[in-house]
Amino acid sequence: MIAPEAYRQLIEQLNQTQTTLIAVSKLKPSGDIRRLYDLGQRDFGENYVQEMVEKHSQLPEDLNWHFIGHLQSNKVKYIAPFVHLIHGIDSFKLLAEVNKQGIKNNRIIDCLLQVYIAQEETKFGLDENELMELLEYYSAQKTTMTHVRIRGLMGMASFSENPDLIRSEFKQLHTRFEWTRRSYFIDNPGFDILSAGMSNDYQQAIEAGSNMVRIGSLLFGNRNQ
Ligand SMILES: *Cc1c(COP(=O)(O)O)cnc(C)c1O
Repeated sequence: MIAPEAYRQLIEQLNQTQTTLIAVSKLKPSGDIRRLYDLGQRDFGENYVQEMVEKHSQLPEDLNWHFIGHLQSNKVKYIAPFVHLIHGIDSFKLLAEVNKQGIKNNRIIDCLLQVYIAQEETKFGLDENELMELLEYYSAQKTTMTHVRIRGLMGMASFSENPDLIRSEFKQLHTRFEWTRRSYFIDNPGFDILSAGMSNDYQQAIEAGSNMVRIGSLLFGNRNQ
């Protein structure tokens, strides 16, 4: 667990670039979340639906729960009543399901589209064509998409020791963010979130234009598999 003083320094550093910190608490107990909450942290990220639902029931109501994992359409209903931001939208089908659950719960649910930038086969997300396709669907059906709000993009760089590769991937993500904003959200100031950067690469992500970082192990220590 990060020391309070180190946490404050990190927050101060992030504030200088108006970057929001999502504390990634997956696989960590609610007690750890509570300790960071007591230092003032409010935004927490989880990867697994059941785990997030359980922790939500154990912790204060004013936490912002970010779903950052791979989300299956049939599980949206469990998090729809309380989720603050869904980072990993990677299909129109999933976006339409979030809209449906938003209607059911009478709330507008904020989402990010997950973009694929890494050189790895294993990472989820939309490639350039899939992103465009999703945005075209969305634009065409906008009048029915009343309870979902696309707030920006999310991406992950390759797990690599090569800083040039990571930098170029984050740059690519930022370019795609700007392109999406100009092409589809030019009249919509609410399209303003670029979620990129984790414990090992958040500084490079911020340099490349990220304004939301998702940091786990640096705050909570390593996760046991
Ligand atoms: C686990 C996870 C993180 C945090 O990773 P750390 O390396 O522990 O900072 C960030 N984003 C996503 C999508 C994750 O799954």
